[in-house]
Amino acid sequence: MKSLFEDALQRVDEAAERLNLDPNIYKILRKPKKQVIVSIPVEMDDGTIEVFEGYRVHYNVAMGPGKGGIRFHPNVTLDEVKTLAMWMTWKCAVVNIPFGGAKGGVAVDPEKLSKKELERLTRRYTAEIIDLIGPEIDVPAPDVNTNPQIMAWIVDTYSMHMRKTVTSVVTGKPVFLGGSRGRKEATGRGIMIIAKEAGDAYGIPLKNATVAVQGFGNVGSVAAKLIASQGAKVVALSDVNGGIYNKNGIDVNAALRKVEETGTVVNLEGTEPITNEDLLELDVDFLIPAALENQITRENAENIKAKIIVEGANGPTTTEADRILNEKGVIVIPDILSNAGGVTVSYFEWVQDREGYFWKESIVNDRLEEVMTDAFTDVYQMSQKFDVHMRLAAYMVAIKRVADITKMRGIYA
Ligand code: NAD
Repeated sequence: MKSLFEDALQRVDEAAERLNLDPNIYKILRKPKKQVIVSIPVEMDDGTIEVFEGYRVHYNVAMGPGKGGIRFHPNVTLDEVKTLAMWMTWKCAVVNIPFGGAKGGVAVDPEKLSKKELERLTRRYTAEIIDLIGPEIDVPAPDVNTNPQIMAWIVDTYSMHMRKTVTSVVTGKPVFLGGSRGRKEATGRGIMIIAKEAGDAYGIPLKNATVAVQGFGNVGSVAAKLIASQGAKVVALSDVNGGIYNKNGIDVNAALRKVEETGTVVNLEGTEPITNEDLLELDVDFLIPAALENQITRENAENIKAKIIVEGANGPTTTEADRILNEKGVIVIPDILSNAGGVTVSYFEWVQDREGYFWKESIVNDRLEEVMTDAFTDVYQMSQKFDVHMRLAAYMVAIKRVADITKMRGIYA
């Protein structure tokens, strides 16, 4: 069976072929620059020692310092981290921010750790990879099961080693510790901007369009709220407990209050229940999968009726489903473009930390809009020029940028 990485390379190979990329440069782009495995001994609260395995991968740093989150999950493997680091490379390149791609992770179930154990794990992991990270080397961020508190521990550990406070070593920090205003909403806001751009480009304006959103966490809830504020009708929402539907539109603010009170959107007054599976197959203008990977597959792609899919989650559509959707004429705006709002504002956070001057939220949002609309235009023009679908076009834009820079910098020998 193919590894996740080998599978992911297929899309890259296809893009390289369409671009007629210099095969010598492409050899470099197919490989991660650096992969590090560390052992992390942690003294548990009961006095015993557990040793966890951690990873940090720099995939390609031709465009600038590495950028990519840290994941704490029992299933983390080097293959997964390597693949995610490669995606980060293309994601940063597609929005044209001066970062390369990186990713990290620790194979651990954080739910089984006390807060003190989690802190010790984070600090020791940081110490083990300290030579690999830094504002001009590689700038981590939160990912699955990591959060602003964990970023604060990383800042503190790194700063103790450097004998000075260095907030720009990570992004996704609390606002009062050098975080950026607007970061929390940035991915959802970026999705709204891309949905609007896609609607205009393909003649399905977001205003008055019908929209279904799978997943109502950080990404899905903000995207749903902002999309509704654009005059669209959000007809379905869901979370891990199930979904809700109202053909006349759901009050997204009421759904947010419902989640605050009960922890789920399920049973919101004035809505009917719907399963997560049925939500994906609704006859809507826009479908936004914003929960998990592998939601649109060979099994259900044929039944998808949405006209435009804007991927909020990473990897919600499998390669086989992509092919089916493309044949059916469903427009898919790929994750590396549509959910890049988060990494874009992470870049703004890094810039603000290094300037020591913090922007108003309206400035963050305006600059985010500029970056996202420019990226959409670049990808859309590539798709028109080569007559390819938007995913392939996004990979082509990204890979061309990294290839051009790599060629320009030359090979250090
Ligand atoms: P989150 O944990 O805040 O929210 C996830 C949501 O999905 C929750 O509502 C949860 O109930 C729901 N969910 C979980 N399992 C589900 C299932 N089986 N069926 C339906 N819904 C389910 O996470 P998030 O930060 O909103 O991230 C969502 C996705 O977006 C992930 O794929 C993540 O990698 C990706 N992403 C997030 C960001 C970011 O800035 N947060 C940036 C880029 C990509």
